[in-house]
Amino acid sequence: MKTGALPTTYFEGAYTPIENAKVSIMTNALQYGTAWFGGIRAYKQQDGSVGIFRLKDHVARFASSSKLLGVAIDTSPEQIEKIILELGRRNEPTGDTYIRPFAYASETNLSPNLAENHTFRFACYMFPLGDYIATDRGNRVIVSSWTRIDDTIIPPRGKISGGYINSALAKQEAIAQGMDECIMLNRSGKVCEGSSMNIFIVRDGTLITPTITDGILEGITRRSIIEIAHNLNIPVIERSVERTELYVADEVFFSGTGAQVAWVQEIDRRVIGAGTMGPVSTQIKDVFMSAVRGQDKKYSKWITKI
Ligand code: PMP
Repeated sequence: MKTGALPTTYFEGAYTPIENAKVSIMTNALQYGTAWFGGIRAYKQQDGSVGIFRLKDHVARFASSSKLLGVAIDTSPEQIEKIILELGRRNEPTGDTYIRPFAYASETNLSPNLAENHTFRFACYMFPLGDYIATDRGNRVIVSSWTRIDDTIIPPRGKISGGYINSALAKQEAIAQGMDECIMLNRSGKVCEGSSMNIFIVRDGTLITPTITDGILEGITRRSIIEIAHNLNIPVIERSVERTELYVADEVFFSGTGAQVAWVQEIDRRVIGAGTMGPVSTQIKDVFMSAVRGQDKKYSKWITKI
């Protein structure tokens, strides 16, 4: 997916045109993946403004990765929130926008050593984004032969750049088979998530999703869907899910900032449920999409207008 960024970024402590936001080829983050990132969406609101979805929660998760890695970041969560809003004002997005906060080891030294790269630099850019994977049709998916990284390898609890090689390999395998997306299993063989999205299944009207100790990213969309389901009186269980449970589920969908709510039609060439978008997925997607667009007062707490 190619993207054209909006003109202004935040880089090396200043608001800078995107053309000037460049690093050396020797940068430690570029060589070793010593970086982490966030992914936030801003949506066109009902009243014509543009609102950021769960900004504070995204910034809190982003900032917590410095603890995972045991490093510092040169910008506080409060400053990051202000910078994102200021970038929004400067770029004046007119439609749906993706915001990418980024923290990276900016030294040009020669070793994968976080002690020598203790303070990460903050940067941020944004670009227009529609669907990341299809939401208007069913997705065809495989269970990947690549095992998901786990907490003892590269913590999937953080969006750590180097860890995304694991996602990239699984996605490559799916694309090579003519599929849209992959599902990865953890080292115990339990279902984790897609390359950049969490997963839900529906069985007998109950929503089931892998627990946060199964090696998943603690998704903010996932959390939002669980809250929406509670409000709709849809039972939710967070527990381990086995591969073959996917095959016999009534419905399966992905959730994520990029993915939004994206239903799965086929897994490993087996049709899921009736092969159409099921009633629970439809209900969750409708409420989620009206929440992100500021059409549902109950969820207006999740929107920060630019
Ligand atoms: N899992 C992974 C590996 C991801 O990269 C993402 C995207 N951030 C998600 C799940 C979904 O998380 P969120 O809903 O917070 O975007």
